[in-house]
Amino acid sequence: MSTTVSPLHVVIFGRPGSGKSSLAERLAEEFGFQMVRTGEMLRDAVRRGGDLGRRVEDCLKGGDLVPDDLVFDLLRQTLNDAEGRSLLFDGFPRTLGQVPLLEQLERERNFSIAAYLEVAVSREAAVARMGGRRVCPVCGATYHLVNQPPRSPGVCDHDGAPLERRRDDAPEIIDQRQRVYERHIDPILEYYRTHAPASVRVVDGEQPFEAVYEAALRALGLTEAARRP
Ligand code: AMP
Repeated sequence: MSTTVSPLHVVIFGRPGSGKSSLAERLAEEFGFQMVRTGEMLRDAVRRGGDLGRRVEDCLKGGDLVPDDLVFDLLRQTLNDAEGRSLLFDGFPRTLGQVPLLEQLERERNFSIAAYLEVAVSREAAVARMGGRRVCPVCGATYHLVNQPPRSPGVCDHDGAPLERRRDDAPEIIDQRQRVYERHIDPILEYYRTHAPASVRVVDGEQPFEAVYEAALRALGLTEAARRP
């Protein structure tokens, strides 16, 4: 975000398969948001090892959420270097118990969340999308059998590697992830709809990606002036 525009802090929500992460990446690229992705932060902590890394690893391996206090400690460290930048939270808060932790962070670091952006997609649409998703095991490029097929069926455009289904896109896991989202995130959204209704923004995530992106810009009031030079 250019220095003449004040920082804008946003939390993004969307079920697995909503396209939330692609949208977050695009916003970060075009507007210079610093992404705050707790999932990535936790995987980094595992790579760094040590006591903390091992505790996190145990949770991730079991498919469990990481305890709130651990996530919070890591978040605090990350935000030490984010002074003055626009923040885009992706993956936090993930439980109702993390909502007051975010409020505590806002007080401690003297920033305030301007918008809670929900990328709304029905469970059926999300499940259909995830079932068609394929990734390249070599370069990580993502495709979709229907929405974004590779040039040659089944192989990566960049390196020709056979495309694979992500392990967490297996049908029973897709279903489980949707249920986890509904159990944890729906109450968070309900909380913000009650306590900060003017800050809750919803975009229809079932449109083509460009339309979702444009809708997000309008919802967040992002204009050309805020675009990264
Ligand atoms: P993600 O990359 O966002 O799908 O996160 C990967 C994993 O990290 C999740 O399945 C959780 O186990 C853990 N995780 C990510 N964010 C949080 C959070 N805010 N609180 C607790 N666990 C989290």
